[in-house]
Amino acid sequence: MKLQQLEQSVNAVILERGIDYWEEGYVNLLTEEEPLCFHAEVEGSELYDVDVRIDASGKVLATSCDCPYDYGPICKHIVAVLLEIRNEYFHKGEMTAAAASSSASKLTIAEQLALMSKEDLVELLVEFSKEHREVRKELLLKLSTTNDAQFYEQCRSMIRSSINRYMNNDAPYWQVSAALKGAQKVLTLAEEALGRQEISRALETGLIVFHEMIGFQQESDDPEGDIHVLIEESLHVIIRIEEQIPETEELLRTAVFQRLLEEAAYPDLEGGEEWRLAFFETASSYIDSHEMRKQWNDVLDRMEEEIVARSPYHSYFVERAAMLRHKDSTRRRGEAGEGIYAEPPSFAGISRNGY
Ligand SMILES: [Zn+2]
Repeated sequence: MKLQQLEQSVNAVILERGIDYWEEGYVNLLTEEEPLCFHAEVEGSELYDVDVRIDASGKVLATSCDCPYDYGPICKHIVAVLLEIRNEYFHKGEMTAAAASSSASKLTIAEQLALMSKEDLVELLVEFSKEHREVRKELLLKLSTTNDAQFYEQCRSMIRSSINRYMNNDAPYWQVSAALKGAQKVLTLAEEALGRQEISRALETGLIVFHEMIGFQQESDDPEGDIHVLIEESLHVIIRIEEQIPETEELLRTAVFQRLLEEAAYPDLEGGEEWRLAFFETASSYIDSHEMRKQWNDVLDRMEEEIVARSPYHSYFVERAAMLRHKDSTRRRGEAGEGIYAEPPSFAGISRNGY
């Protein structure tokens, strides 16, 4: 069997499944360990090791996979890896792996793309998006600048589809990090938006990752802390927004402040008081008027009351809230030039609530 004739040489059902696996990006870590000897890991319900040996003409000499499939010489995992090898090393028809690597060393992909006309580039991208579902999804996300609602919907579905793919079949805990691929991508989009100073897109996209991860954390173990890391990273994007908005953009600053307060008062942020406090703290960095300060204090007071009423384990929130109030009043006095001495936190909330 030759790589070039894969479609004609493999059982149709196995071929179809293999193509699915390949298109879904299940082939990981394809490496050419020795010349023309390849190894890859293929995901799916479990992780399998696949080895493939070919000759320079693309003829398949040997294959192996450690999955339990035993109805024929070739399983869907091997098909997926063969497709990846063909795509990576033999894409230009007759070109051998050796020839491909020697021609690639002359010009980088970026350099070769730079030489193409715009029309050819467009055609190429359209072609890719037809061939690969993942490419299509990501292109759509990158391109949807006009319709925000649609963009955010696609962000959510990207996060959820990679979670569902891995969690549906009682996947073992170590697949949690794989389930987070979609969230990682969306987080990158949020960071890119921040880089372009697209404030509201960065904020909303960051918030989507935040909420999806809070939800995921409640239904999944997080032994490696991967979900926690993503929550923190999404918050980090949101925190960095402040330094990207010029002081003169008062309307925008106020809008972001309001949005952050909304998040700080988010209902049912179960077990997320730590995050709630982070939103209060971030929002406080926007305060530059008496009105904003009053609003911030009102929401903080209200949340504190709710939390104290709901749970006997509220001292953490109350302490941290007292510190935030103290920090804000210190800054206010600094601004007003009323002195530089900081008072210690009063812990008024704690004594008020019977401690
Ligand atoms: Zn297999």
